[in-house]
Amino acid sequence: KSLASPENWREQSVEKRLAHALVKGITTHVDEDTEEARSKLGRPLDVIEGPLMNGMKEVGVLFGAGKMFLPQVVKSARVMKKAVAYLTPYMEEEQAGSGKSSSAGTFVIATVKGDVHDIGKNIVGVVLSCNNYEVVDLGVMVECNTILDEVEKHNAQALGLSGLITPSLDEMITVAQQMEARGMTIPLLIGGATTSKAHTAIKIAPHYSGPIVRVADASLVVGVIDSLLNPKKSEQFLKELKEDNERLVALHSNKKPVELLSFSEAKEHKADLNWDNYTPAKVKKSGLQVLENIDPQTVAEYIDWTPFFHTWELTGYYPKILKDEKNGQQATELYEDGKKWISRIIEEKKINLRAAFGLWPAHSTGEDVEVYLDSGDDSPTHTFHFLRQQKANLKQSLSLADYIAPKSSGKKDFLGAFAVTAGPEIEKYAQEIKESGDDYTSILIQALADRFAEALAEYIHKCVRDQWGFGKDENLSMSEVIKENYRSIRPAAGYPACPDHTEKETLWKLLDAENTTGMSLTSSYAMNPSSSVSGLYFAHPEAKYFNVGLLGKDQIEDYAQRKGLSVDEVEKWLRPNLGY
Ligand code: SAH
Repeated sequence: KSLASPENWREQSVEKRLAHALVKGITTHVDEDTEEARSKLGRPLDVIEGPLMNGMKEVGVLFGAGKMFLPQVVKSARVMKKAVAYLTPYMEEEQAGSGKSSSAGTFVIATVKGDVHDIGKNIVGVVLSCNNYEVVDLGVMVECNTILDEVEKHNAQALGLSGLITPSLDEMITVAQQMEARGMTIPLLIGGATTSKAHTAIKIAPHYSGPIVRVADASLVVGVIDSLLNPKKSEQFLKELKEDNERLVALHSNKKPVELLSFSEAKEHKADLNWDNYTPAKVKKSGLQVLENIDPQTVAEYIDWTPFFHTWELTGYYPKILKDEKNGQQATELYEDGKKWISRIIEEKKINLRAAFGLWPAHSTGEDVEVYLDSGDDSPTHTFHFLRQQKANLKQSLSLADYIAPKSSGKKDFLGAFAVTAGPEIEKYAQEIKESGDDYTSILIQALADRFAEALAEYIHKCVRDQWGFGKDENLSMSEVIKENYRSIRPAAGYPACPDHTEKETLWKLLDAENTTGMSLTSSYAMNPSSSVSGLYFAHPEAKYFNVGLLGKDQIEDYAQRKGLSVDEVEKWLRPNLGY
């Protein structure tokens, strides 16, 4: 009979009750049941290694078989932590240095230097600890040497690296090189949004002779690590991994190089906008605007819920997902929890939404856009540098600079900019809850903070469209707003139309963002706090998102010169876009 099914579960033996509570994620009776098990079994460690571990094993099996969803697993971990927290004083009393539970191994996880991506890593940490791994979570922005020192100190069986933004890919290579230099042999697991199987095989794996595996999502990590560490499975797994990697490397080296236009040809194919007949939208309010303590209730209306479900590995679109045959019930529960916590966050004033934004006079000079801080300025105060598509056979070779009136047109145009954040307060709150042992709520709050930041970007964009004078007659439903079905775009540095993260430096100066919002940039130009969004506004009706794609060395050299950087430096930041 399955442990998860008993109707009258409170009438079962204490072992079964604990197992049931773990599988179902019920925290209400943990303390009393754990106490009962302790007096029955004698030693606190026997409770951990007996009923608790058995329950977690069942959770691991169910999750592995796709019969449990990620939020449920994270809730199970909460039950486990609560039980262990209850037993800890008794173990200390026993002077139980000898009584350390037998874990499956120690796993070090960290987000690499320059990156602040945390949620995915935290989820992986929970999933691993559910499967009896000792997890050493080093947090975010961790230097390579710190990571490797910790691996050695804990004699770890595996290392997991996480990163969200493209510069982190290079940092992961550095870590692999240093692992090799230190003579390490443990598996290195790679995770995070910009990582890929191909990049891992082609760019990271050659630097380290130990196993390197890219793990696409948290639900897979236990399967991978088990295959690597289990002597019965590892040989076969490593053989397949090697073949897989070789196939990807071969595929890559046999790929026909993408045909590129020369940079000068590309410039001739710029977006052909008829500036003579164009009247730029009138700006009602120009210059910098700063807001603090923006009403979270208003902003919450602008939340796009779909990515919230993706964070929890539930695929589908909101609101349809709530009725989905497979995911519907779990999605609905999660959504209810999300809304409940939004109310609590607002009631308890745990969030302080901040924004710096504005519209400034600007014109384009071919590939750059020059901005005037004050309308009266004679010369531009800030220059944004853009990249142009060079792939052959496109209808046009677009650059974002094409959407701002050229200086030669004599038209008075505007460029907008914004930086918004859910703030450090909510991040601190999530951290406090994590420290109290409730990973489920902590991850939920981190996910909501991300939602608030994105919703704030949407809300401020709405305010800016109003100030630009074309927001008022939109008459859009909220779902159309969330689909960005309106005039104007807000491209974000690091995204496909403007892949260079370093442009945020100019953005930060224009917005005085550090002072006005408290947001800072890391060494890789990630934004801190991590629940933050920034970008530029373009109001031209034809402005749209596109992918800059691969670039020729001719453009990289020109770009380096315009930015006053060496070609090497630019190549480092634009590595994924180099087409040569
Ligand atoms: N509603 C989503 C918004 C994030 S994705 C959410 O809540 O998560 C959409 C945003 O990504 C856009 O507003 C823009 O800022 C950025 N973006 C998307 N495609 C882009 C591209 N090709 N170039 C630059 N920025 C892009």
